[in-house]
Amino acid sequence: MTTASASEQFVVTATEFLRNRLAREDNVCVTSSFQAEDMVVVHMVRAILPRVPVLFLETGYHFPETITYRNQAVADWNLNLIVVNPERTVAEQEAEFGILNQTAPDRCCALRKVEPLFRSLAPYSVWLTGLRREQSKSRANLQVEDAFTLPTGQTLAKLSPLAEWKTSDVFSYAEANAIPLLPLYEQGYTSIGCAPCTSLPFDPDDPRSGRWSGRKLECGIHLQAT
Ligand code: SF4
Repeated sequence: MTTASASEQFVVTATEFLRNRLAREDNVCVTSSFQAEDMVVVHMVRAILPRVPVLFLETGYHFPETITYRNQAVADWNLNLIVVNPERTVAEQEAEFGILNQTAPDRCCALRKVEPLFRSLAPYSVWLTGLRREQSKSRANLQVEDAFTLPTGQTLAKLSPLAEWKTSDVFSYAEANAIPLLPLYEQGYTSIGCAPCTSLPFDPDDPRSGRWSGRKLECGIHLQAT
């Protein structure tokens, strides 16, 4: 008798969880930065909800490789992409406030990520993420399902089906399902966000140590539930 590996068991558990949980929901979205975890979640969810809205935060500061990869994934998987834009363009923000990612990254993330996302989540009752506990000490207490309250007071179910997964589980799933990954991983990046705030990790044991040069751990979106 063969025994399922941890990876295989995680896939079964996450797939069953999503099937059961999404069967009674019709107001679901996924947020995706098109990193490996998000691709795994989108791959799983679109098997259940093929036209699930995939929300992408267009900060204006992404790597060109990220946008190229995103566009290819959208075409290949016929994704229902929702591009979430900040109120100001990069040029407008820099003219008004200077280069906030250098001087005040929390403010920059608030303007270009947090506030736009929270506005865009309003139509939904279920929000799926690719977050994992292992990614950061700020995510150590992440739950597979949690309640998330927007600044308006509206509460959504926030689902993170990969919460328990290890990095190797994510890459195993991608390989097993022939999911091509963002080419920046091949250059050594282990967590990929906006280009000015992403570098190669300086701590091999901390995949997010290349984000914000260690000045902060989170953009602010996920602080409430973690
Ligand atoms: S990650 Fe950097 S560039 Fe992107 S919104 Fe945050 S501070 Fe701005």
